[in-house]
Amino acid sequence: MKPSPIEPTIPLDRDGVHHGFLRLPYSRDDSAWGSIMIPITVVRNGEGPTALLTGANHGDEYEGPVALQELTVTLQPADITGRVIIVPAFNYPAYRAGTRTSPIDKGNLNRSFPGAADGTVTQKIADYFQNVLLPQTDIVLDFHSGGKTLDFIPFAAAHVMDNTLQQAACYDAMQAFNAPYSVMLLEIDNVGMYDTAVEDMGKTFVSTELGGGGSASAKSIAIAKKGVRNVLIHAGILQGEMQIDPTVNIDMPDGDCFVFAEHEGLFEPMLDLGEDVTEGDVIARVWPVDRTGVPPLEYKAKTSGLIISRHFPGLIKSGDCMAVVGHRVD
Ligand SMILES: [Zn+2]
Repeated sequence: MKPSPIEPTIPLDRDGVHHGFLRLPYSRDDSAWGSIMIPITVVRNGEGPTALLTGANHGDEYEGPVALQELTVTLQPADITGRVIIVPAFNYPAYRAGTRTSPIDKGNLNRSFPGAADGTVTQKIADYFQNVLLPQTDIVLDFHSGGKTLDFIPFAAAHVMDNTLQQAACYDAMQAFNAPYSVMLLEIDNVGMYDTAVEDMGKTFVSTELGGGGSASAKSIAIAKKGVRNVLIHAGILQGEMQIDPTVNIDMPDGDCFVFAEHEGLFEPMLDLGEDVTEGDVIARVWPVDRTGVPPLEYKAKTSGLIISRHFPGLIKSGDCMAVVGHRVD
């Protein structure tokens, strides 16, 4: 295994609060011996479990970065047992550009695992987490939302796994996060995902989809702040009482939950996020962009439930995920 070129500028294993960077050498036109400086905070107080908290795995998703920035200035060693590693902007070049993928190599960090120590910038970030940070971690919280092209009802997520004990641990962490919705998420493309890398290592993993559209709201940020605090208490790291409110449990049994566009055009949602839908209902219509007097194409739900995700921009292309329907669990 090749050693990672990334060097932390702070100790990862010492008591106290340490703010610094993961320094990733990146030689380029404007800085011959330059580096990418990924901000990191480590708070530690003695022996105990380690939580690894990440935001902006995709650079245009903002609830995680806001909640985690706040945590870096509020979390005190005296409040915890063990260690909290906070990286508010996981794919830092993408975060700085306000884009889903890295402007340097077009890398989608959440499709780049396990990464490569001698690969692209994005692959080097993935490799460092895969081989350095994850092995010393017990519980992982990775914040997502829809970015510029999707919008979601606010939920925490866990996955169906072969290992039922590990699945139960992830399910419990999802319930501890206690978003308004809790989803057993079916991934359409899980190869190379951070989620898969963490889960394959046997760790407890919880992720989120808290909103979208390329911004965040006071409400969605409040969900993120409460969730991270709850997860740290649940993990036995942070002292205090969890704040638990009602959550709606949702399942995604199969691919019929997804509706993909097969045309391009002007997008007309017929139902909004959180609304109930019955199989066969028209979920959205697509109007031509290049002429008048032509009726829209109708897209129908393939299953009954509620709308948990939708395409966000006003125009849509063939292949875009138009809507996702989840099933309520009684
Ligand atoms: Zn994301």
